[in-house]
Amino acid sequence: MSVAELVPYDEALSRYEPVIGLETHVELGTMTKMFCGCLIEFGAPPNTSVCPVCLGLPGSLPVTNRAAIEYTIKIGLALNCSIATWCRFARKNYFYPDMPKDFQISQYDEPLCTDGYLDVTVEGQEFRVGIERVHLEEDTGKTLHVGGATGRIHGAEYSLVDYNRAGIPLVEVVTKPVTGTGSLAPLVARAYVTELRGLLQALDVSDVRMEEGSLRSDVNTSLAPIGAAEWGKRTETKNVNSLRSVERAVRFEIERQAAILDAGGRVVQETRHFHEDNGTTTSGRSKEEAQDYRYFPEPDLVPVAPPAEWVEQLRASLPELPAARRARLQEAWGFSDQEMTWLRNAGAIDLVAQTIAAGASPADARKWWLGELAMHANKSGVELSSLPVTPANVARVSALVKAGALNDKLARQVLEAVLAGEGSPDEVVAARGLAVVSDDGALTEAVDAAIAANPDIAAKIRDGKTAAVGALVGAVMKATKGRADASRARQLILERLS
Ligand SMILES: [Zn+2]
Repeated sequence: MSVAELVPYDEALSRYEPVIGLETHVELGTMTKMFCGCLIEFGAPPNTSVCPVCLGLPGSLPVTNRAAIEYTIKIGLALNCSIATWCRFARKNYFYPDMPKDFQISQYDEPLCTDGYLDVTVEGQEFRVGIERVHLEEDTGKTLHVGGATGRIHGAEYSLVDYNRAGIPLVEVVTKPVTGTGSLAPLVARAYVTELRGLLQALDVSDVRMEEGSLRSDVNTSLAPIGAAEWGKRTETKNVNSLRSVERAVRFEIERQAAILDAGGRVVQETRHFHEDNGTTTSGRSKEEAQDYRYFPEPDLVPVAPPAEWVEQLRASLPELPAARRARLQEAWGFSDQEMTWLRNAGAIDLVAQTIAAGASPADARKWWLGELAMHANKSGVELSSLPVTPANVARVSALVKAGALNDKLARQVLEAVLAGEGSPDEVVAARGLAVVSDDGALTEAVDAAIAANPDIAAKIRDGKTAAVGALVGAVMKATKGRADASRARQLILERLS
């Protein structure tokens, strides 16, 4: 479907109600694979981290990785799920070269964690995203199709397969259908993946690098006429690997499906591929008929029955989760909801926290990160956290302003110089001679010159019209290239002319 045939977003939402759902795969950061002792190493040469178990050689037997079970229970607890007291792995049978065993060990009707939720806030509105299940499985190998134009198997001359990834523990977090989001659906989808990523990071169970595929989301979208009794047919956009793309994928599917429904057509239940370059999706594999994977309980593994005491120990060991941390920091810093939202959207919460820890006041830390530095990051198209300035630098500039050694204008110049790689704030101040001039000797000279050059204004002030003093302070600032201590200059002028 070409872009011209899409229904504009707002128009689509005036007639249709979206339902979204997300299935997120997370590679766990365990030392070894799910069912064998192979080390997990990103970027290792192809097929070097393999053994008879993960290659599925006859006679090899899997053993469950305890750390992977522990990580999964922690994720379930953090997502407010119930933890199964007894569950089994299942064989998902399918023939595809990325899984050398011709089946994948997964969980089917007995997931480890069920029925939880994660709250997200979008534009001041809170949405509770229900969690259907959190289950554990092993990742598949990676295939590389060579010779075709698209990198897909269609049109390829041959394919290469790397089994290093086969057997890495993979957690799948599946939401319940999310309804009632209306036009905020794309933002809710993005906010959910953002919050989930932050939670996984806080739990320290995965490196959650979307660009490297250790966290990837399948995004389900369906549309139905507003007020309809039934939901529409859903599509599943696979392996979306950036937060921005999650939002764009939902948005595009809404515009595309609305066009089909407007024309009296039928949305096909299928998987779709997302294209980063133009933000569109294209048809993948039909899901009109459910594939039969002939699941059955994995006979080579004992059931998983986490003792209640162990689960409680893990619950007690959970770190402070992102939502609780934000609430605590907001209270401590005295920021409004809106100010916290700005910080979050700018990815500045940790930076502000570190700047405050380095001695700045909350208001100053926020001012510099959301002001001067956010502007700079925007201009150069990078994240705030990748700017070449540290929270300690910002705290130092803020301290210099507070001590009267810098005014705001000079402080901005110092930060710019730090960003340009000229050194620490103190080095920049020394090298560029940027400190505020407040010593009376130097100031008096400038004050006298300003009075001599503006006899009319000086006369007014002598007559008691002290409001005119601003013009002379301005002249002093100009003469000192903005470095004068303005309040001291004002004092000196008034003393001279009284
Ligand atoms: Zn192995």
